Amino acid sequence: MLEAVTQAVQMVMPNTQRDRPIVLHVDDDIASLMMAEGALEDAGFEVVQAADGIQAIASFKEHEPDLIIMDAVMPVMDGFEAISGIRQLMSGAHVPILMITGLDDLDSITRAYDEGATDFLTKPINFFILPHRVQYMLRSKLTADALRSSQAKLDNAQRIARLGNWEWCLASNHLSWSREFGRVLGLQQDDTMDTWVEFLDRIEESDRHNVRLIAEQSVEERQPFNIEFSTPSLNDDSVRRIRLEAEPHCPDDGHCTHMLGTIQDITERTNAQRQIHNLAYYDLVTGLPNRAQLNEQLRYTLKLARRNDAKFAVLFLDLDHFKQVNDTLGHDAGDDLLKQVSARLTGVVRDSDMVSGNNDTEEPDSQHTVARLGGDEFVVLLGQVNRAEDAARVAERIAQTISVPYQIGSNTVSVTTTIGISVFPSDGVTPEALMKNADVAMYHAKESGRNGYQFYSREIHEQALERFSLEGDLRSAIENEELTVVYQPKLDMTTGALSGMEALVRWYHPSKGNVSPTEFIPLAEETGLILPLGRWVLSHACEQMQRWIDAGMAPMSIAVNCSSVQFTHSDMIEDINQAIGHSGLDPRLLEIELTESLLLQDIEKGIKILRSMKALGIQVAIDDFGTGFSSLSYLKRLPVDKLKIDRSFVKDLCIDPGDVAIVSAIITLSHNLHLTVVAEGVETQQQFDILRGFDCNEAQGYLISHPMAVDELEQWMANNATTPVKKAVGL
Ligand code: C2E
Ligand code: CA
Ligand code: CA
Repeated sequence: MLEAVTQAVQMVMPNTQRDRPIVLHVDDDIASLMMAEGALEDAGFEVVQAADGIQAIASFKEHEPDLIIMDAVMPVMDGFEAISGIRQLMSGAHVPILMITGLDDLDSITRAYDEGATDFLTKPINFFILPHRVQYMLRSKLTADALRSSQAKLDNAQRIARLGNWEWCLASNHLSWSREFGRVLGLQQDDTMDTWVEFLDRIEESDRHNVRLIAEQSVEERQPFNIEFSTPSLNDDSVRRIRLEAEPHCPDDGHCTHMLGTIQDITERTNAQRQIHNLAYYDLVTGLPNRAQLNEQLRYTLKLARRNDAKFAVLFLDLDHFKQVNDTLGHDAGDDLLKQVSARLTGVVRDSDMVSGNNDTEEPDSQHTVARLGGDEFVVLLGQVNRAEDAARVAERIAQTISVPYQIGSNTVSVTTTIGISVFPSDGVTPEALMKNADVAMYHAKESGRNGYQFYSREIHEQALERFSLEGDLRSAIENEELTVVYQPKLDMTTGALSGMEALVRWYHPSKGNVSPTEFIPLAEETGLILPLGRWVLSHACEQMQRWIDAGMAPMSIAVNCSSVQFTHSDMIEDINQAIGHSGLDPRLLEIELTESLLLQDIEKGIKILRSMKALGIQVAIDDFGTGFSSLSYLKRLPVDKLKIDRSFVKDLCIDPGDVAIVSAIITLSHNLHLTVVAEGVETQQQFDILRGFDCNEAQGYLISHPMAVDELEQWMANNATTPVKKAVGL
């Protein structure tokens, strides 16, 4: 039996230097001391003895025993006082003390615990049990020591890692946390934070909602989560970056009771990461993205462009007299110049989002990038261009902006830039090729000795220039009202009377002569110029028709073409409203022609816009009908009044039986839907007769008349008197 205790004693040996644990036994009763000594020594303990409290404290200091057995009642100083004395010693704070009290002496027991006793034993002592009790107490002391030490280690580790832990009780909302948690959040000694809500309040407002949400979601889904957030520093006005990791504790029944988590201060780490990232991806002098960053951006842009079937451009720039500035004014001046150039470049590119004219598109940020490659070389990546001219326009603006003189210290310096442009996909389909070709184009531009820009491909260069200048001309043509409107009559096929006119825009270019609308309308659509152009035609046509009516002409409809860009533009309805209002035209006489493909793009949206058009009291016609797809089935849903059969079907009416079938089907269907049918491009009597045979309502085409200018049309009307065209069409 004692052997077992001996073994156990060896196992719990607290102090590796000691062979045997030391027990200090304090008692004024010699007999007790002797009995205990025998039992304890047999069990493998070393025993030191003391007869009163004073001796006990002295002996404790001398021997630093592993455990103390303390009698309560003794002369000189009793056990209670002795315990209190020992507890106050640094080494005595944790030593286990077994108090020996009188039987049933409840007061003594309570007092013993109050003074710091670990356990108690009542008299008479069972000396057979005593070694077991002592051994048990030593073992729990060891466990407590280990726990204390690991707690200290954990605390230390948490402090070093700036990592705190916390526990949130979901039912009570109570939050408990470790010391480091408080330090991470900057809590002071007496600050409290007892609830989850109080914790949330410490988070920056912009992050707070997310933290709350993700925690709630984590409980709902029983999934761990992590999130980063900022919290204002209490010492200054900086913010600390904090990472929170947590998981809900959900026992078997699935109901979550707690959330356990850590928080860590990652401010330094985040800053370091940012710094490393900046060093790796940004140019130190100008703060612009460097080559590495540009390459990444280029790859990303390429992927997007492939996916969207879009174009983008790389502009390679080189400053023309930079070396001179550097050599004569020094490097600091050179750096200053580079910084100013960067700022101007960024400015131009920021504004250039507007150049495409498509400020209506829902495309998010098109991701233009200005980068410095080193030296005096810069690259501007235009993440999305509709046409090469967009790039040309930006290049032109860059060249112009860069050439404005710079103030460097007390000196005024001038530099110019040469720009090479490559366009995806025509000038390359890899980042490398695009960069290389832009560079090549830049050298060409330099060779040709011009301060300006050059596209890699000569063809694109010329096309861009051509379109670019045409666009400029069109812009001024609209501003200077160099456009005109011509009118083409439509004929009622049963009565032979005029039923209306279609307004068609004309542009007489000072050097090019007449430019066809099939050429400049698409250009106007791409550049957004169609909006002022369309508005102008609309008001002009309405005014003209009203003027004719005022002059005594029989009222008839005036048809105006509307392009898709106008149709989806929110101002369209207002434009129509104004044109009617200003001209005083009866809205029923205005007819808006829309192409079928336009309506097919987004049918629900189309119907909505059509409804608001109809609400103005105007007529709506579907132009070029038959050239779209799947047209017939949805036709009945569209609130329109007229169909214009496309010219291509009319053209071969006499030779192609297929077209005959199509045209007759379109007419039959339209009549079923109570739509008026107009045939476009009627050039021959034969076509006219066939169409009349199918009960087509109206005809328009060269057989009746070409589109005519106002005076020409008035002349034509006068010549044909009351039934101007009956003869022409054999009515
Ligand atoms: P569209 O709306 O289909 O206009 C009819 C076109 O066919 C006109 O061409 C007209 O001159 C031509 N045409 C008329 N009768 C005949 C014929 O018997 N045979 C042949 N071969 N052609 C005939 P234009 O004036 O050159 O206009 C071309 C297109 O440009 C128009 O096609 C229309 O889509 C667009 N357009 C013209 N003016 C405007 C406008 O003010 N605004 C908008 N958005 N588009 C316009
Ligand atoms: Ca038309
Ligand atoms: Ca047409």
